[in-house]
Amino acid sequence: MYYYDPQGRPIIDGASGLFASAAGHGRPEIADAVGRQLRELDFTSSFYRSHPLAFAAAHAIAQLTPERLDRIFFVNSGSEAVDTAMKIILAYHRARGEGQRTVFISRERAYHGVNFGGVSLSGLVNNRRAFAGVATPAPLLRHTWRAQSAFSHGQPDTGANLADDLQRLIDVHGAENIAAVFVEPIAGSTGVLVPPRGYLERLRAICDAHGLLLVFDEVITGFGRTGSAFAAQSFKVRPDLITMAKAITNGAQPMGAVAVDRRIHDQVVHSAAEDSIELFHGYTWSAHPAACAACVAALDIYAREQLFARGAELSAYFQKRLFSLADLPVVTDIRAYGLLAGVELAPDGKPGQRGYRLQKELFDAGLHLKTTGDVAILAPALVAEPAHIDEIVDVLRRVLECHS
Ligand code: PLP
Repeated sequence: MYYYDPQGRPIIDGASGLFASAAGHGRPEIADAVGRQLRELDFTSSFYRSHPLAFAAAHAIAQLTPERLDRIFFVNSGSEAVDTAMKIILAYHRARGEGQRTVFISRERAYHGVNFGGVSLSGLVNNRRAFAGVATPAPLLRHTWRAQSAFSHGQPDTGANLADDLQRLIDVHGAENIAAVFVEPIAGSTGVLVPPRGYLERLRAICDAHGLLLVFDEVITGFGRTGSAFAAQSFKVRPDLITMAKAITNGAQPMGAVAVDRRIHDQVVHSAAEDSIELFHGYTWSAHPAACAACVAALDIYAREQLFARGAELSAYFQKRLFSLADLPVVTDIRAYGLLAGVELAPDGKPGQRGYRLQKELFDAGLHLKTTGDVAILAPALVAEPAHIDEIVDVLRRVLECHS
């Protein structure tokens, strides 16, 4: 649960690094598995062939994904997962004879990584301002934050109707031209926006009515963060593809993946001419043996220690302690689901300045977390004890009291 600075000062990790180290840091099982793998097979290409651990990792992930999302494409980051999902979707529609479906729909305040596909989906202007012209901006649904929902526990009760924005965009762009809708089930990087009750269900229904694919970008929400393996299961909405990364290896190796519905996989693969490549896409490091070893070892820890259930159990205490900060005048909203939370602060000067300062002050006070704009984002490891939660919230309170 701790980092140590070069002088040996402990800094409690309130963000699992960057939503990655769900089983805590320095797990010897993962280090040993990676070391063993590098001694046995350090590298092989994943083009035309693979290695046993790549299949083992794919099987382990497919045990966790919703039913039928069991075809796994390995990449090296969340950004690559997003761009890969976009390419798979375009290939799928083309294989079905609907190659005109090229429009992707995203959402205000969305973050889908830094590669050009993900930048085209970005709902955060800073992430695409400097890259205009190359990344065509996607049409955006409105984001789901509403002032009247401030300090809601879990999913806000109102706002499901915001999903009807999708119908409006379909009316403008034509369903026959739209390939897919990308959403983070909980918008993470923008400051943890929990979906209103019924919102994701309504997106699913509209997608189904018009032949659009639905993608959940679970780079942050995957692997137990919301109390289930994936947010798709927590919210009981089944997407067609899931993008994932971060905790896939507990953060110990760079890796990401796209889980694809079997019917999408089969359409693409079976439409290819015999003895030819099915999808002209892949990375040198796809299914790197060391990353696969870390993935299998991490998922083994999650299962052995029943960390998803443990995280779900801890979340009530985590949220109770976090909502105790609501009395601080500087705190304007608290949002939380599972072991993921955002504490929004009143801006001080230009938006984001307080958050920027806070990051440094917290680090000096012995707490690591992520700030984005003026929101402090917390995502403790699933192995945290209540005493760790106390320490995290106590440091946060102490520092925020100086802001109030
Ligand atoms: N998608 C989402 C939802 C993310 O939160 C992130 C990173 O935080 C990414 C994609 C990009 O992942 P990476 O930084 O591994 O490229």
